[in-house]
Amino acid sequence: MSGKHILALSGGVGGAKLAAGLAAVTSGDDLTIVVNTGDDFEHLGLTICPDMDSVTYALAGLNDNERGWGVENETWQAMAMLRALGEEGWFNLGDRDLAMHIARSWRLRAGETLSQVTARLTRELGIDHAVVPMSDDLVRTQVLTDAGWIDFQRWFVGNQCADKVFDVRFEGAQRARPAPEFRAALERDDLAAIVLCPSNPFLSVDPILSIPGVRDALAERQVPLIAVSPIIGGSAVKGPLAKMLAERGQVVNNLAIARHYQDHWGDLLDCLLIDHADEADVPVLQARGLTVAVTRTLMREAADRERLAKEVLAIAGI
Ligand code: GDP
Repeated sequence: MSGKHILALSGGVGGAKLAAGLAAVTSGDDLTIVVNTGDDFEHLGLTICPDMDSVTYALAGLNDNERGWGVENETWQAMAMLRALGEEGWFNLGDRDLAMHIARSWRLRAGETLSQVTARLTRELGIDHAVVPMSDDLVRTQVLTDAGWIDFQRWFVGNQCADKVFDVRFEGAQRARPAPEFRAALERDDLAAIVLCPSNPFLSVDPILSIPGVRDALAERQVPLIAVSPIIGGSAVKGPLAKMLAERGQVVNNLAIARHYQDHWGDLLDCLLIDHADEADVPVLQARGLTVAVTRTLMREAADRERLAKEVLAIAGI
């Protein structure tokens, strides 16, 4: 294999951990991280990009490990004042986090694309690697509940994922184009591997794959496509993935993850990297034609993220 460029597709918290690991073990030009923007939304006049921010904070070393989201050393003065002013308080905005939303929002309003704004903000925070939105066009994830189609964040944060989800859709995806740097990464001569970070397939990876042309462009590249499973020990580490699988009548295991990717996106995955705790899933995954690698996939600290990233690169032959 001649090249060594890695294209990683990521959602928020789970994806950001591996993205940060990959960034720690590669040089700036060897990694493009494409981030889901389906979770983005407009709130209090601001454009909020939760997955982008999770990846940015993780790569900049600013993320709050304990809370699991947002910025470390956060304070909540602005939020308290907003509540005092009678503004909506269902979505928590920390003071430091707010600065990110303000910087992004005014520049978008001034005419910069999300790609341009993201490149600027990540550079200013000292990030060497390309962090790229999946698209500069508006794509908005919505979930179908008993109350009808509702915007993702209203369900995810406002409703705490309580309502049962019957379906998911990505409004605008059919008209969206991959962001320029995403397209460029897909076409690079030195592309050596594509990595699906351990993100929620339904909510974080599907929106990226839904952009016309992306799935086929990924499949056409003759490089290994390695997915790290978000399942550990028959459960999701965090978030609504296990609940969503159960609501679809599926057992929460790696077979459900593999089946989802294969049934919806065809023959895309070459290798699924799963946790030791789920070793029993290996035969059934292999029977579906997948190469399976088993390791410890829980990332608690930087050393875990870097070790897992190195293992992914080794599987890709990099
Ligand atoms: P979100 O957009 O913030 O929900 O983040 P993602 O979609 O990127 O990540 C959510 C998924 O990450 C969940 O399904 C978790 O199971 C998974 N996850 C979180 N931390 C880890 C970890 O350390 N290892 C693995 N393998 N999966 C993780």
